[in-house]
Amino acid sequence: MSLLEIRDLRVTYGSGTSAVPAVRGVDLTLAAGRKLGVAGESGCGKSTLALALLRLLPGSARLSGEILLDGEDVLTMKWGRLRAVRWAGASVVFQGAMHSLNAVHRIGDQIAEPVLVHGRATQGAARRRVGELLEQVGLPASRAAAYPHELSGGQRQRVMIAMALACDPRLLIADEPTTALDVMIQAQVLRLIEQLVSGQDIGLLMISHDLAVLAGTCDRLAVMYAGRVVEEGPARAVYDAA
Ligand code: ADP
Ligand code: ADP
Repeated sequence: MSLLEIRDLRVTYGSGTSAVPAVRGVDLTLAAGRKLGVAGESGCGKSTLALALLRLLPGSARLSGEILLDGEDVLTMKWGRLRAVRWAGASVVFQGAMHSLNAVHRIGDQIAEPVLVHGRATQGAARRRVGELLEQVGLPASRAAAYPHELSGGQRQRVMIAMALACDPRLLIADEPTTALDVMIQAQVLRLIEQLVSGQDIGLLMISHDLAVLAGTCDRLAVMYAGRVVEEGPARAVYDAA
């Protein structure tokens, strides 16, 4: 069984004459521990696809099709089950504004939150887990006491990755994880993501408008256009054909 199987996924924002079909029948498969990149120009539906995977879309979005995570359909699962699947089944690294770090809380407390709430850990265990996660993403455990503004953009993105990995997800969804960063830092963060998912056998679904970024990190690439996948195959072949 595949880790993730998306079948005929359709997402429409709004209804009637103002309806915007954002995803228009997408089929994609990702095996455990593999890395799939989804490329395409701005507005083609990549973020909508990423957010749909955990039902994180606004209420105005209507979804149909199937999103099977380890064989279980995310679209029809009960609310309580969905809460458990978020973070532990699949987790997301976002690029910026949405779900970003909270300016008034120490980063250690923010990383601890999913561990405490979703992983049901004790305070002591959560603190230890935070130190371990920070070290995994290349930051000293002592940075747990820092506030987001005390870190660089690249370090903040490392914190977001630590948070996404907090509950040992089977699938990591990364939506433009390096878009806001300088080129040098971008390469470091990409290498970190690749190294972490490979080492822990986590499936990666990475979204980017930049095909070169995906080709360097992923095994397979899908290219979207106007809500559909128009090209899919081994990363090298798709990249060379583009
Ligand atoms: P991408 O991530 O590839 O840039 P998006 O998934 O953000 O594409 O957007 C796909 C389409 O859906 C675009 O036409 C966009 O304007 C529209 N869209 C995205 N989010 C919303 C929303 N919350 N409400 C209405 N339309 C939206
Ligand atoms: P809340 O304040 O209720 O947590 P959010 O909009 O931040 O609202 O998140 C909505 C839901 O998505 C919550 O169940 C939250 O736990 C989950 N969630 C938020 N960020 C992530 C993430 N990076 N990975 C997985 N699930 C997430």
